[in-house]
Formats: sequence, C-alpha cells, structure tokens
Amino acid sequence: MINEGIVNVSYIIATILFILALGGLSNQETARRGNWYGIIGMAIALLATIFGEVTAQYEKLIVALLVGGSVGLLLARRVQMTQMPELVAILHSLVGLAAVAVGFANFMDPGRLVHYTGVELTIHDIETYIGVLIGAVTFSGSVIAFGKLSGRISGNPLLLPARHWLNLLLLLGSIYYGYAFVAQSVEGGGMLPLIIMTVLALLFGIHMVMAIGGADMPVVVSMLNSYSGWAASATGFMLGNDLLIVTGALVGSSGAILSYIMCRAMNRRFLAVIAGGFGTGGGASASGDAADQGEVVPVDTSETAALLSNAREVMIIPGYGMAVAQAQHTVFEITRTLREKGVNVRFGIHPVAGRMPGHMNVLLAEAKVPYDIVFEMDEVNDDFPNVDVSVVIGANDIVNPSALTDPDSPIAGMPVLECWKGTTSIVLKRSMATGYAGVQNPLFFLENTRMLFGDAKATLDEVLKAL
Ligand code: NDP
Repeated sequence: MINEGIVNVSYIIATILFILALGGLSNQETARRGNWYGIIGMAIALLATIFGEVTAQYEKLIVALLVGGSVGLLLARRVQMTQMPELVAILHSLVGLAAVAVGFANFMDPGRLVHYTGVELTIHDIETYIGVLIGAVTFSGSVIAFGKLSGRISGNPLLLPARHWLNLLLLLGSIYYGYAFVAQSVEGGGMLPLIIMTVLALLFGIHMVMAIGGADMPVVVSMLNSYSGWAASATGFMLGNDLLIVTGALVGSSGAILSYIMCRAMNRRFLAVIAGGFGTGGGASASGDAADQGEVVPVDTSETAALLSNAREVMIIPGYGMAVAQAQHTVFEITRTLREKGVNVRFGIHPVAGRMPGHMNVLLAEAKVPYDIVFEMDEVNDDFPNVDVSVVIGANDIVNPSALTDPDSPIAGMPVLECWKGTTSIVLKRSMATGYAGVQNPLFFLENTRMLFGDAKATLDEVLKAL
C-alpha cells in the first residue's frame, strides 16, 4: 500500500531506534527511555512491513496478529517476576521455530526455481539451510533451557560418554547433508537432507543445553539470546528483508557480548561452557551434608534490627530469594529507615544474582532504591573489611566462599561477594537448602555469620517494625 521508498526510510528509522534502545538499556537511568525507543521502533517496523511488504491475504495476517498478540499479552500480564527467565527462554524458542518454519516454507515455494537460478539459487539454498540449522538449534536448546530454568528438568548436566565426539559427528553430519541438499535442490529435490539436518540440529540443541550444569545457566541464557538473534537474521536473509537482518544481527551480537560478560563474571571460558561439563554437582567436599560442616547460629528479627541500628556500614546482598519473596519494597523501607539514622547502606550486586542478567537491578529499580547506592560486585568487593553488617537476602551461590577455596566445586573460580570479611553477615533464607548450583555453603557455618530463617518478606517486615 505504501511505496518502497517510504518502507526503506521507515526501516532505517526503526534500525536507528533499535540502536538507541540498546544504548539506553545499558544504563539504569536511561533504561526506561531505551525501552520506549525499542517500542516505537518495533511499531514503525511492524507498520512498514504490514503496509509495505504484504500485498495479499490480509485476513490471514490479521487473524495471526490477533492470536499471537493476545497470547503474548496474556503471558506477559500473567508472568511472575520469578518466571521471567523461563518466559524469555521460551520466547527465544519461538524465534528459532519461526526460522525453521520460514526456511521450510521458502524451500517448498514453487516460485523458488523460477526466481533463482545458478549461483543465486545456490546462495539462496545455503541461506535456507543455515537459517533452518540455527533455528532448530535455538528452538530445541531454548526448550531445554526453559525446562531447566522452571525446574521441570534437573539442573544437573547430562554427560554422555564421548559427548565431544557426538557433537563432532552431528556437526560433520550437518555439513555433509548441507552439501547433499544444495546438490539435490538444483534438480528439484533436497527435502530429505533438509529434514535429516533439522533432526540433527534439534538433537544438537538438546544435547548442548542438557550438558551444561546449573551454575553455568546464565551463559546459556545469554547465548541462546544471541542465537535467537542470528536465527532472526537468517530469516531476514531468506525473506530478503533488510530490517530483519539488521535487527537480528543487533540481537545476535549484543547477546554474544552479554555471553562474554557473563563468562567473565563467572571466570569461565566460553568454549569450555559450551563444551559442557561444568557444574557437575562437584566433589564430595562441595556438596557435602550440612551436618559435616558444624552448627549454624540463628538470630531473630529484633536482634537483626539491633545489629543493623548499631552499624555504621551496611551492605545488602540480594539474590534470587529476594525475587521469590518479593521483598524488594520492604528492603527499600529498611534502607530508608537506616539511612535516616545515619547508617551508610549500600547494595552489592553480583552479575549472576537471580535468574537473569540484571534481575536484581530491575527489582531494586521497581522498589525505587536510589541508583547511586547500588554497586556492582567489583566496586565493593574490596570494602568488606570495613563493613559492619552484610545482609544476604535470599542469596546463596553468589556468596559461597568455596568458589574460591574448593577447586572441585561446580562454581570453582567464580568470583563471589566476600561478605565474610566483614564483621557480621546475616543470611536470610527459609531453610538450609542449597542454591541453584546445588552446593552447600560454608558461609552459613562461619563464626561471624547469623542465620535469619523464614520467608525474606515476612522476616524483613518484622525487622522493619523493630527498627
Ligand atoms: P541461589 O539460587 O544460589 O540461592 C537462592 C536462595 O534463596 C536459596 O538458597 C533459597 O534458600 C533462598 N530463598 C528462596 N526463596 C526464598 C524466600 N522466599 N525467602 C528467603 N529466601 C529464599 O541464588 P543466587 O542469587 O545467590 O545465585 C544465582 C544462581 O542462579 C547462580 O548459581 C547462577 O549461576 C544461577 N543462574 C543465574 C542466572 C542469571 O542470569 N543471573 C540464570 C540462570 C542461573 P531456601 O530455599 O532455604 O529459602
């Protein structure tokens, strides 16, 4: 309906808005604005595509948009903050599935052999093949990640014997069938190798994510985010849509950068994570029973309030349990009360705290905690000797000293917030259960640690009252 020139200009504007969105999202103060850039960019992109690219069958498009839009709206409204990572994982899988569907539809289009001949046909076929390949890996990998993040599939890595050989075999198989696909496609065939490769790619996706241990899931989440971008980009090549190519590449490369940041935060090499085998549940010393480690010292809420009021320096370390308990608003009230009493309260945020990148920052921003007292791990880790009280709220793996001392631990080598170097640590959790990586935490048994058992929201409400 609108001409090509307008479509192209709209695509360029949308691309610029997406880049501004990414820039905005990199900082808490500008994140809201970044989100708006993204929303407006996506609206422009959709309108330009609907009115510029689509020429027929509007009824089907409208039905699909209504169905997809309503499901998306319903899911987004219903999802709890704690289920967000699972939702993101399952949404990644849809991008992968879309790439596979577009690839097959493209291949089965009878016009293909008319529009493309010779080298062009070969290039188009390779685009289709790679698009389906990336799409299928993204799809099955994301479904398994969804299962692991939602607890439907065990977080323990599945380590098949000769798993590296198996991966190599799948890779070689994909290359071989790619060759067969391109050769047969010229003669009007090629469906069989395409289907076989799709099955191989689905198996590879499952195997890759199944082999990764709980503690390394942050890298997997960001890696699948990156894959979903490349899958979208591949779809763009198949459909000849420039905006999709660019947008996919933006998501793909920012996901890759995020994976790198996550790897650095966990002190892992990217290839080693992908090859699997980390987070294996660890040696006996890491996963040993609580009983082996001695006694813990419990405290109650009034003692906690007293410790906090008498402190000069307080460090709050939030983790996944704060998200589960939805305790962020009470945390903010306590922070405000203590600051009014002249206590210097700061927040120390571990890069992999919670279940998705930036999880804690989102919660604290929601509770309106001022940004200037929220610090990254590297900014505060050297300050702990000067901290009087560290309050560990529903965090576990990110404050586990065995990451630094026990080479057999599944989280060995991961930098952690070293709160035990302060005067007192108060750990809020409901039981002696382990965290996501499934390892016991020696911090709980240290002389200067106090355990405040109970749901973090309930106990903090009482602490606030006592304050
Ligand atoms: P952990 O999962 O290590 O620990 C959370 C703790 O919170 C548990 O020990 C639990 O103990 C406690 N808890 C749960 N609910 C409540 C509640 N209602 N009130 C009080 N406490 C509660 O979380 P961390 O944030 O310390 O570490 C994150 C882990 O997740 C790391 O291993 C990381 O690798 C992994 N991960 C991170 C991702 C990311 O992108 N950030 C993605 C995927 C995995 P109890 O049951 O006794 O209450």
